[in-house]
Amino acid sequence: IKKKHVWTSDKIAKSPFKDIEIPNISVAEHLVNNLEKWATKTAAVCGITGRNYTYEQIHMQSQRLGANLRKKLKIENGDTIGVLLPNMPEYLTTLIGSLNAGGIISTMNPNYTAYEIQRQLTMSDTKLIFTVRETVDTVKEALKLSQRNIPIIVINLDGKLPEGTISFKELVEDSHVDVSILKEVNSKGEDLAFLPYSSGTTGLPKGVELTNTNIVANLIQQDTECRQYEYTTESHQDSVLVSLPMFHCYGLTVVTLHKFSVGLKLVTVPQFRPETFVNILSNFNLNLFYLSPPTVLFMGSYPQVLPKYLEHLRCITCGAAPLPVADIEQFLSKLKPSAHFVQAYGLTETSPLATCSPIGQKDYTKVGFALPNSYLRIIDGNNNNLGPNEVGELVIKGPNIMKGYKNNPEANKQVFLEDGWLRTGDLAKVDEFGAVTIADRLKELIKVNAYQVPPAELESVCKEHPAVFDAAVVPIPDEKTGEKPKAFIVVKDSAKVNEEDIMSFVAKRVAPYKRLKEVTFINEIPKNPSGKILRRVLVEKFC
Ligand code: AMP
Repeated sequence: IKKKHVWTSDKIAKSPFKDIEIPNISVAEHLVNNLEKWATKTAAVCGITGRNYTYEQIHMQSQRLGANLRKKLKIENGDTIGVLLPNMPEYLTTLIGSLNAGGIISTMNPNYTAYEIQRQLTMSDTKLIFTVRETVDTVKEALKLSQRNIPIIVINLDGKLPEGTISFKELVEDSHVDVSILKEVNSKGEDLAFLPYSSGTTGLPKGVELTNTNIVANLIQQDTECRQYEYTTESHQDSVLVSLPMFHCYGLTVVTLHKFSVGLKLVTVPQFRPETFVNILSNFNLNLFYLSPPTVLFMGSYPQVLPKYLEHLRCITCGAAPLPVADIEQFLSKLKPSAHFVQAYGLTETSPLATCSPIGQKDYTKVGFALPNSYLRIIDGNNNNLGPNEVGELVIKGPNIMKGYKNNPEANKQVFLEDGWLRTGDLAKVDEFGAVTIADRLKELIKVNAYQVPPAELESVCKEHPAVFDAAVVPIPDEKTGEKPKAFIVVKDSAKVNEEDIMSFVAKRVAPYKRLKEVTFINEIPKNPSGKILRRVLVEKFC
């Protein structure tokens, strides 16, 4: 793009990209808008087994699934549908089928414990859940904990079915179901489509209400001057690596939904294991990578990732957490000079893409420009606007900003400024031309391997331990994962407990990536007069 000044006289940085028109349609409609152009091409293939589906197969299966969800399983418009799956080609059918049925999709990490699943099931009021055989028992335990009895659909490609569950295979292969029932769904732009969970700037995970318009907007916003793929034609189809988790908004919107909407081949990676990862790189001529910082480090440093496997790469996009420049340079040394590397930035609350770089931008430390139709401001501690190149909290406005946190007016009051401006909780600066640099994280969130670890969640788990009087959790640096959580514990009078006890107590209740790296016992948690934990004081004094 041509460099131009983007700041208005009242210190708002406009997107340098051309405005776009956002149609008032549902995500399900948008996804199949151009489907006939690539109907017989592969939509998704499992990187390990090679199991694959064409676009028309996924379309047909998701229509049948949608119709059966309504007819047999009594799903109604606006019902929440839980999805607890690893990355797999059937994830697409699950998503589109659930949207077809008028459901709101709440995705979950398949590594969650029963305790974590039950909390999301309860908060989101989930009416039905999709999972795989490996996690059925955990889901059943979560349902018991939340005292719910909802249908469990199992992706059972071999036809085998655990007791008390429903067969995905039967629902999608049912050629007798009347799909005309889907006409009654008629989702509009402002209806909710997704309900992922994020802790935002503070506190516990909250349901992020993303409307059809939020998602459709974000899909089209990244499809303009930020476009990184070649159009699919009769003789050509780009392929994209889907190793970012499909349950996280970045993998969900930017990779899965967007790349499906433009006719690419999605190569799904169910679980990160170095050897299988290398096999996938060598077996598929991949053109696009979407990565998080730990995978950029892996690609650059793992000797078996050979430059010959990266020959077809046109563009690598990295986002979700800060990326050290040394890791970028190490990875770039394995790539052809013609391959582009860009950083993107966003939040679950921005559907998630907020900034992106056009192809050809060489400053890898920046995270790009505001997407079309969106605006940025940098504010100081008193919410006054700062100007170009000044560091302050980044706030964003645009069609991709969430509707709000579900049933949480208090959190909404904190995160939104007047007129729908969203506080990101990140410190950043924006130059004269609109290029954004993320400087630091103001909010209390910890990111481990780019996954969210909300300190408040771990603090509340620590406090469940009978010997713990008070707890505070902060991030500490970790070479491999970026950050890891460290807990400060105040023990109840006369109680006896050691570091190991606390670590194993937490480990039993949370997914492996949330486990504590360190525990330190102190006499008192520093707090401000209103009781807010002064995390920076802890970090400065003890870390
Ligand atoms: P999530 O909602 O899980 O996507 O987390 C959003 C947060 O991840 C942002 O508010 C940032 O703190 C961080 N983040 C996302 N992208 C980047 C990036 N490119 N550089 C630095 N931090 C990032």
